Amino acid sequence: MRSISIFGATGSIGVNTVDLIARQGGAEAYRTVALTGGRNIARLAEQARALRAEVAVTSEDDLYAELKDALAGSGIAVAAGRAALLEAADRPADWTMSAIVGAAGLAPGFRALRHGGTLALANKESLVAAGPLLMAEAARHGATILPVDSEHSAVFQALVGEDMAAVERIIITASGGPFRDWPLARLAAATVAEARAHPNWSMGLRISIDSASMFNKALELIETREYFGVDPARIEAVVHPQSIVHALVGFSDGGLMAHMGPADMRHAIGYALNWPGRREVPVARLDLAAIAQLTFEAPDEVRFPALALARAVMRTRGLSGAAFNAAKETALDAFLEGRLGFLAMAEVTQDTLARLGGALTSDPDSLDCVLDMDHLARRTAREIIAARG
Ligand code: NAD
Ligand code: MG
Repeated sequence: MRSISIFGATGSIGVNTVDLIARQGGAEAYRTVALTGGRNIARLAEQARALRAEVAVTSEDDLYAELKDALAGSGIAVAAGRAALLEAADRPADWTMSAIVGAAGLAPGFRALRHGGTLALANKESLVAAGPLLMAEAARHGATILPVDSEHSAVFQALVGEDMAAVERIIITASGGPFRDWPLARLAAATVAEARAHPNWSMGLRISIDSASMFNKALELIETREYFGVDPARIEAVVHPQSIVHALVGFSDGGLMAHMGPADMRHAIGYALNWPGRREVPVARLDLAAIAQLTFEAPDEVRFPALALARAVMRTRGLSGAAFNAAKETALDAFLEGRLGFLAMAEVTQDTLARLGGALTSDPDSLDCVLDMDHLARRTAREIIAARG
């Protein structure tokens, strides 16, 4: 019986993962080691009971008693807090889903690699902040990392059986989000409610806002580089409002392999769950005649400056990805709290990178180095936000 753990089980990716596991036999077919969540204790407890998990962990210390009550009599162990998340990652599992949002997902995923199993990586922030370290850790322990971003799963699938030496370019698509057509002046005043309304994908709050600002695509450009080891000059993003083509790989003979599918993360999650095989996944089947048109346009780096910032990060590498992500997360917090305008998120991120300057160029030799930079960049970004008044 295959053993699994899910970090961030109660979120958008986590719920879809639990749904697929339930459809593939649930507790009869899988031994669930650990499920983790945040503040949604009722959902975490329900998932833990349904999959008969060995341990359920909330990241929130103050919710320990509530989780304990919710799982009373179930025989499921309960724990809370950051250290407990890491302990959960220390329990061996054959397949681990990394679906915590933000840099908080980095350490648990890193720890899970030590068992040499498979890490299904939805937490793109891990690759942005610590790509080379993560890949080296996986190699050291014979672990496999599988992409669970729709674009990167698409690239991965288009590369099956191919020689990387023949890859000329990788193109990831972007829907353009809710603000694809908005002029700059209107973007400056965009609200949280407007930014979270993604036209095609149903996702967690933070990634939805990141999609509107194209910070999500910026993270994904870096993710592509770190995952596939391709020179940044060979990585492109193209706006494709229908979100049907998720990515394309261009080869040296001019051929382009495109991956298409509905905008449903269960495809990418299911691919990572069943890899190297495929199994039935209940996503809608595309009716291309009904869709009729697939359109593409160049992204506008003036209205969406996050893309240019990603290019700079890919050039500097070192600790710049960790700083970029941390500054972006801090700016996003301020936007969500109404303390920062929509376009100011990119300005704060850019100013943070500029202020940290030379400190970004050295290559981290440990996860602690990355986490130190994460803290420094958050503090710097907070100071920059405070100074803006
Ligand atoms: P979400 O906000 O819906 O869920 C996040 C999960 O992480 C929840 O279980 C939450 O309780 C937990 N969590 C939040 N903060 C935490 C913390 N500090 N410590 C521990 N746990 C914490 O997010 P999501 O949309 O499911 O995204 C999860 C990850 O997957 C992100 O890295 C995101 O970029 C990536 N991703 C998501 C989608 C999508 O369609 N939602 C697509 C591609 C990639
Ligand atoms: Mg994506």
